[in-house]
Amino acid sequence: MSSIQPVRGTHDLIGEQQRRHAHVVSVARHIAGLYGFDEWATPIFEETRVFSRSLGDTSDVVSKEMYSFNDRDGESLTLRPEGTAAICRALVTNGLTQSLPQKVFYAGPMFRYERPQKGRYRQFHQIGAELMGAAEPLADAEAIALAHQLLTALGVADDVTLELNTLGDTASRDAWRAALVAYFSGHKDKLSEDSLTRLEKNPLRILDSKDAGDRVLVADAPMMEEFLTPDARAFWDGLRRTLDGFGIAYKVNPSIVRGLDYYNHTTFEFVTRRLGSQGTVLAGGRYDGLVQQMGGPEVPSIGWAAGIERLAMLLEATPAAPQSVVIVPVGTPDENAVLAILQTLRQQGVRVEIGYRGSLRKRMERAGKQNASHVLFLGDDELARGSFRVKNMATGEEAEVSRETLFSNAASVFAKAGESAAQ
Ligand code: ATP
Ligand code: MG
Repeated sequence: MSSIQPVRGTHDLIGEQQRRHAHVVSVARHIAGLYGFDEWATPIFEETRVFSRSLGDTSDVVSKEMYSFNDRDGESLTLRPEGTAAICRALVTNGLTQSLPQKVFYAGPMFRYERPQKGRYRQFHQIGAELMGAAEPLADAEAIALAHQLLTALGVADDVTLELNTLGDTASRDAWRAALVAYFSGHKDKLSEDSLTRLEKNPLRILDSKDAGDRVLVADAPMMEEFLTPDARAFWDGLRRTLDGFGIAYKVNPSIVRGLDYYNHTTFEFVTRRLGSQGTVLAGGRYDGLVQQMGGPEVPSIGWAAGIERLAMLLEATPAAPQSVVIVPVGTPDENAVLAILQTLRQQGVRVEIGYRGSLRKRMERAGKQNASHVLFLGDDELARGSFRVKNMATGEEAEVSRETLFSNAASVFAKAGESAAQ
């Protein structure tokens, strides 16, 4: 049998990678909290129609990227390729459309059958925010401000530009769509095969094409701006005014249509040059019709999602590994007495580990490798005296610490370890 490998496009998160990943999630969770968002967790699989309906048949995700399978009852299920449709499903099935607005944060794995490359995987992870039940541009601006503060807190804001666009309302979009069909129909011979299909089913999608030939045509395509109704224009102006109020810089980019069907009015992406062609780190938009598609009432909403792997790659430094206090037994002290101290320290919130075997020298070496902040020596003499030797591994200094101090104020004795344990 050939050796077992992880499934193509999946990866294990271990050590530095996991710390980067966890850092992104914990910072995002914190900042989302500052904006009044509560965390939800939905199942990683749903009935296939939760996604197929809402994302659109011609979207890349539905047409070729979904992991769908029939379960043993013959029901078609899909590993979630994104979070928004599932959150809207949850809003409806939990009866929460009566208590709006709902501000939701989520984090977790997503699954898409894509060609794996740097920054693009088959199982990847997203954080996301959804603000459901708010029709005003202020809501869009708040969602964007949350994203911006998150990128700032992660130290990556300087590398990232906010690109903003509007898709208008239904009337604006219909007029624009007709103009796009007329334009692209005149260039059918130059369109990629995928885009020829899109022309029939969803011409807006051509604007999102990654084909080089398509991109040339797209550059001269009619612009949404020309087709905005007065209402849609007022919304668009309102959004930009509010973003100015928040002090958030943006660049209008008329080709940001996003890959999924459910967007209207606002669409945006935070993009960087630092990740090559996988440059979009966070993207979103307004989706006023999606909750209705899940069988609920009309709930105007705005949200975004960000790729955790891409954000983790942008982090300047890897968050430090937590440090432990390591107990090194001297000789063969009474085991129960040692365990009592070990547990008392842990109950005080100190991260403590104990060496299991080997000579004193071996154990000290291992403490060094374990990135110990301190070593606590415990031998029968120390236990009898009720006073222990603590070595600070950074400075090399040793100090005698009484049992009372250790048991009443361990965090101050091991200040550094206490800090990292609290993180
Ligand atoms: P792309 O244009 O890169 O395919 P998308 O439009 O499909 O992105 P969304 O569905 O809006 O992306 O997802 C939001 C974010 O999730 C993306 O901006 C990206 O950071 C991340 N993301 C999407 N697909 C993947 C993937 N296969 N692997 C890693 N991250 C991803
Ligand atoms: Mg994609």
